[in-house]
Amino acid sequence: MMNKNGRFGIHGGQYIPETLMNAIIELEEAYNYYKNDSEFNRELTKLFNEYAGRPSNLYYAEKMSKDLGGAKIYLKREDLNHTCSHKIINVLGQSLLAKKMGKTRLIAETGAGQHGVATATAAALFGMECVVFMGKEDTVRQALNVYRMRLLGAEVIPVESGTATLKDAVSEAMREWTSRIDDTHYCLGSVMGPHPFPTIVRDFQAVISKEIKEQMMEKEGRLPDAVIACVGGGSNAIGSFYHFIDDESVRLIGCEAAGRGIDTFETAATVNTGRLGIFHGMKSYFCQDKYGQIAPVYSISAGLDYPGVGPEHAYLHDIGRAEYVPVTDEEAVCAFEYLSKTEGIIPAIESAHAVAYAIKEAPKMDKDKILVITISGRGDKDCAAIARYRGEDIYE
Ligand SMILES: *Cc1c(COP(=O)(O)O)cnc(C)c1O
Repeated sequence: MMNKNGRFGIHGGQYIPETLMNAIIELEEAYNYYKNDSEFNRELTKLFNEYAGRPSNLYYAEKMSKDLGGAKIYLKREDLNHTCSHKIINVLGQSLLAKKMGKTRLIAETGAGQHGVATATAAALFGMECVVFMGKEDTVRQALNVYRMRLLGAEVIPVESGTATLKDAVSEAMREWTSRIDDTHYCLGSVMGPHPFPTIVRDFQAVISKEIKEQMMEKEGRLPDAVIACVGGGSNAIGSFYHFIDDESVRLIGCEAAGRGIDTFETAATVNTGRLGIFHGMKSYFCQDKYGQIAPVYSISAGLDYPGVGPEHAYLHDIGRAEYVPVTDEEAVCAFEYLSKTEGIIPAIESAHAVAYAIKEAPKMDKDKILVITISGRGDKDCAAIARYRGEDIYE
């Protein structure tokens, strides 16, 4: 339908050096085979259910719903997955695929360390070698996650090029993959990069919306009126949206990190402030400076701090099927505190961006409307940073 030759409208594609083409073709062929292989799907479902802890709960947030006085709010609890976020789902899928392809080594990029930890986890489980590329800056800011990855048996390579953050780690992982494709799979962390990654990652994460649909039919006997999720690269959001794309009555709302505001340079709201460009193997929207170079981005949330957005989101924006709204640091922090106090659930600061928009939107909706918020991860990792944001100094 919308995915011919890895294109989503004008977005997506394969803007890669020739040296990467063989690896990409091999991956695409393997994926096209295994996605329909019943043994592969049986093993993956078993991993999802028995290792990651699926299906995740769809929880009726009664207190929050009553407090806001509008729509009935449900929380899709991806924070309950093993390793505390949705990321493990994509990683289990890609690792199993890599294993079937005969690969013995996984490489990955990581920003805050969440995807690196998930990949190191799967590598330990599958008995594979694991190398994680992480911006030098990030290895300092996220020392605990560097320790976690090493504990799980991975090697962490600090990347010093560029701004020494996530985008540079992606570039370095791609370079490494070009030089070693025989035994290595590049386990990309979101719905981005060259085709077939945006499709592969989306297909694995689509289990989120498949479950929401089933659980909603069971609990309410109907579809929700809106699904809200935060958008970094966009994997938890597309996973939450996917099975509702053809249900026109369901509003799909992606919350981007506005940082200090979309009228400042300290933002990561790609759809709201970015322009069409080509980077990391794909055509999509990117935050750019006046020369068309990738702009440094900022958000309080390390997981949303990426200057691009997955091509399928760019397309859903173009055709008006999904809405992409900016949420500031301050709004996200307030929502982080609100959900903790109201429901006893500490959301990841990434997920708090989705909660923040729901707090604004729910009161405008009638009481018979239903809104689902995807809680992409748990917030224990963010407590020290949020305390600091509020002027309190605590030791991590
Ligand atoms: C990494 C991360 C995100 C952002 O990634 P997407 O690909 O946009 O989902 C959001 N929430 C949490 C908890 C994360 O760890």
